[in-house]
Amino acid sequence: AETSDRLSAFLSSGIYRLESCNAVFIDPVRVLNRSYSRFRVSPSMYYSRFFDSKHEDQESRFSSNSRKRKRKEKQPHALNERERSADERHQEARPLLLKAHESLLEATDLLSVICNLRNDVCSLTESEESLPIVEQSFVELGRVWQAPLYEIILHFHQHCNPSGDGSSPLIRYKEERVIPIFNNLVVNETSDNVEAEFLNSRYVIPRESCFYMSDLRQIHNLIPAESDCGFSLIVVDPPWENKSASQKLVYSTLPNRYFLSLPIKKLTHTEGALIALWVTNREKLRGFVEKELFPAWGVSYAATFYWLKVKSDGSLISDLDLFHHRPYECLLLGYCHGEGMDSEYQSRLKPLQDNQVIISIPGDYSRKPPIGELLMEYVPELKPARCIELFAREMQAGWISWGNEPLHFQELRYFRGT
Ligand code: SAM
Repeated sequence: AETSDRLSAFLSSGIYRLESCNAVFIDPVRVLNRSYSRFRVSPSMYYSRFFDSKHEDQESRFSSNSRKRKRKEKQPHALNERERSADERHQEARPLLLKAHESLLEATDLLSVICNLRNDVCSLTESEESLPIVEQSFVELGRVWQAPLYEIILHFHQHCNPSGDGSSPLIRYKEERVIPIFNNLVVNETSDNVEAEFLNSRYVIPRESCFYMSDLRQIHNLIPAESDCGFSLIVVDPPWENKSASQKLVYSTLPNRYFLSLPIKKLTHTEGALIALWVTNREKLRGFVEKELFPAWGVSYAATFYWLKVKSDGSLISDLDLFHHRPYECLLLGYCHGEGMDSEYQSRLKPLQDNQVIISIPGDYSRKPPIGELLMEYVPELKPARCIELFAREMQAGWISWGNEPLHFQELRYFRGT
């Protein structure tokens, strides 16, 4: 009975707590869907990889080669200092990743569901599927001199009960707001999804959410006038420089020094904030975060979480020991102290358990799973938590999304209507 409880909890929340280890499996589609009522995130659009049989072939060919590759990688030279410390880090993570993966493979009820996660209840009709895809490049539009002139149209459908006691009929009214799309806080304060229009595309805006679409140079506009209006949870996924060419095609990257000036402390609420930073496996980057970035932000390191990536059959997306193609990424967590905090503050927080593993099937290139809810229990007391995602490409109910393309995954084609 306990197993089926877990599974039914998963089917409604998208989160499955794996037995006897520090790990969860999450279905981002289900988690994201909790932000919507009239719309559903389309599983087939989210899971564009790792379900496709063609892709699986390539991947398995890749992993069957891995043993050969590994031998090749190890033979020619002894590890240099940086490679040695990267390997040490990996050896530390290895047993807990293996244990988490083992628990996933033992959760047979879950496995039988995850191989079908991509199946839409109602999939796109053929005509929809054959529509030409015109993707808006917010990044390019935001750069041109006309940027301040671009506007987004929000279509609000409100239901209102004029007498407040249900004695008079519900009034439905429509309101249209036309506002600048760049360098402007665009807010949906209502408790319903709102449809939006920009140029020839349509977008879905979750309830109680906002976005601010701008370049890094304008991020200071998000700093609240009063620090008790700051944020208690700050998730950051920077466009780290990366050698992989495919990454370069997806979005532009920035040298590390640009991130030093992110005003994390000024964005932090007086009660303090939990900071969650996604990092790549490059050893040089890890050193930079520990020695320079966290200190510059005023963040004290608290824990590391791992995001372990699996395919629809539960197997890892690549060999765990492949040096340059690890099937996991890390999320570094730390606290930024607010101005009003005393020395006992840290002891009042629920201790942040180190080494938690989040398992999921990856979506689009470098799209991260939504981890906000998993972090909520560690956020400084403030209720409700005030959450912001920096360098976001999507929105969530109750969150502010900032970046140069926070509407990216909000486009209607990533959803299916109900
Ligand atoms: N967390 C996101 C997700 O799961 O989809 C991915 C974020 S991605 C690693 C980094 C984002 O930063 C990209 O959307 C990129 O366009 C954006 N970015 C790059 N340079 C930027 C800049 N100068 N100002 C603001 N955003 C920038």
